Amino acid sequence: MSSTRNPHPLTGQVALITGGGSGIGLGCARELVQDGATVMLAARNVERLEASATELRSIAEGGAQVLTVACDVTSEQSVTEACAAANNAGKFTMVVANAGYGGGGPIHLTSLDDWNGILGTNLTGAFLTIKHSVSHLAAHGGGSIVAISSIAGPVTHRFMTPYDVSKAGLEMLIRQTADELGCRNIRANAVRPGLVPTDATEGIMTLDVILNDYLEQMPLGRVGSTEDIGKLVRFLLGDESSWITGTCISADGGHHLRRGPNIEPAMEMVLGDARYPAGPSSNA
Ligand code: NAP
Repeated sequence: MSSTRNPHPLTGQVALITGGGSGIGLGCARELVQDGATVMLAARNVERLEASATELRSIAEGGAQVLTVACDVTSEQSVTEACAAANNAGKFTMVVANAGYGGGGPIHLTSLDDWNGILGTNLTGAFLTIKHSVSHLAAHGGGSIVAISSIAGPVTHRFMTPYDVSKAGLEMLIRQTADELGCRNIRANAVRPGLVPTDATEGIMTLDVILNDYLEQMPLGRVGSTEDIGKLVRFLLGDESSWITGTCISADGGHHLRRGPNIEPAMEMVLGDARYPAGPSSNA
């Protein structure tokens, strides 16, 4: 008996991808449109969204459409409208809560604005994205949500506290969502990328002392690609993973087996002794 594999298993479904115009979000969109899904790319930079949409249309298959919507995930109104736009595009069943950014700095020099900015985008932005999408997903009989966490979710990264805290919070948000909304056939999982070259990691990629430290912590000895992450996200969004919910899966070359990165040399270069509050050392 022979069975034919459906070449476009996601045809007829719509995915909302926050931060879908670049980097990892765009990598997720590439995997989805090749499997037939319509994607709604949501971010602030409309020009970049349109350029990415043009690229995606050239590889889209199985009736996939590529749509864009201007969206700032820190604004509840904006997120509500983006979710409505995804729902208007068809059977809205998939969400990638990907928008996010980070920054380096010591705790005692982190401004409240910096803290609120990172938490507001990475954690509150994901909360709003989930809050305003789940009613649509439930109305379509369920769906799958994937949040882009980080190795920084479970492992400390000294001098990156707001980012680490935002990703740790994001992972609990995902577990809460999975537990509460499984009864509506809504699944929620997180992916923890290791170091992937994107606009966000340009600074790390060009500083050898930091890049080499990352690589030394990866048993597989190479940085990731947006395709490495996109393929895992695609798996978690589709029926192939229909019994998986509430998990946080690493895609990081094995980095999670070792320690978090050491960005202290960069902090020392920029801040010198001021990278720590003045006082006697516990090692003295
Ligand atoms: P990126 O290319 O800079 O992507 C970040 C995206 O988020 C951009 O498209 C940006 O678009 C969007 N964004 C930022 N603030 C937003 C807001 N307020 N509203 C809507 N969209 C917003 O960097 P990336 O590396 O792909 O990052 C994507 C996600 O992966 C982030 O959550 C990041 O923490 C996570 N991650 C990355 C790595 C890595 O090594 N690259 C590792 C672990 C986790 P606009 O500026 O146009 O809004």
